[in-house]
Amino acid sequence: MGITMVTGANGLVGYALRQMHEPDLAYVSRADADLTDFNQTKALFNRVQPDRVIHCAAEVGGIGGNMIHSGEYFRNNIMINLNVLECARLAGVKKLISFMSTCVFPDSCTYPLNERDLHNGPPHPSNFGYAYAKRMLEVQSSAYRKEWQCDFIVAIPTNIYGPNDNWSLHDGHVIPSLVHRCYLAKKNGEDLTVWGSGTPLREFVFANDIAQLAAWALNRYSEDSPIIFTSGIEISIRDVVENIAGALNFKGSLIFDPSKPDGQFRKPSDPTKLKKYLPDFEFTGIEKGITNTVEWFEAHYPNVRM
Ligand code: GDP
Repeated sequence: MGITMVTGANGLVGYALRQMHEPDLAYVSRADADLTDFNQTKALFNRVQPDRVIHCAAEVGGIGGNMIHSGEYFRNNIMINLNVLECARLAGVKKLISFMSTCVFPDSCTYPLNERDLHNGPPHPSNFGYAYAKRMLEVQSSAYRKEWQCDFIVAIPTNIYGPNDNWSLHDGHVIPSLVHRCYLAKKNGEDLTVWGSGTPLREFVFANDIAQLAAWALNRYSEDSPIIFTSGIEISIRDVVENIAGALNFKGSLIFDPSKPDGQFRKPSDPTKLKKYLPDFEFTGIEKGITNTVEWFEAHYPNVRM
């Protein structure tokens, strides 16, 4: 087997993949090519000559970033994916895995979210630009499989968190934003303000688990339809915050700010397909994952993405 190229190598999943120390992986990031540019993307494929691609590059943000940057997230994700999959096809790449997110599913949907419901209705208004762009990954992969027999697969992880996340206080996802905010509140002797009511439920998955599942899927999964990567375990935002506060040994009060958005109340997803393939896969528990994430943040701050 030749080279496996990882796009978005400086992101959350790219960083987790590096920790696996797999041989023959080529990590590429923004410094190597602007993937929104077709010619730069094509030149990158010519230079690296990958046999396989783990496509992690994307323009992403939490609920804050998604609401403000709906146009930017739509445009950049459409262009990145169109270019990467097309250049992979032209280069004769044998296998490609790309990632969506369970937040791209229809807003009104029967739960748990199942792979076959992906296109059955509009996404939640808070992230529709990102969601529609990401749904096209599945459409493009499937269309390429039909016409050109490309073995391009799509994974749908739930909320990923872990070391080397984007710790932005405004555009980040809930775990990294709150780790950062809680760290600052502790340092300044202040209380911690949490967006929304704390009651929404989410399924979180540690980035190292996604790296392992991606490596598995690259070798073993070839269905036309996507596969959801989830433990199937829901946890409330309040419980997440309490875990973060515990890991940081934060002694101030938690204040829930109802003027900030809650987003979807819950979006449980169906682990059935993954369990069918990997009945014994053990997901990292939230407490262990958050402790590990907080330790990484404390060791690297202020030299972190934000
Ligand atoms: P989502 O799962 O796609 O909605 O994305 P997020 O990772 O941004 O999680 C959003 C949920 O976390 C909402 O219920 C927010 O109200 C809650 N939340 C609480 N504090 C924060 C915060 O500081 N940042 C973000 N992004 N979300 C927060």
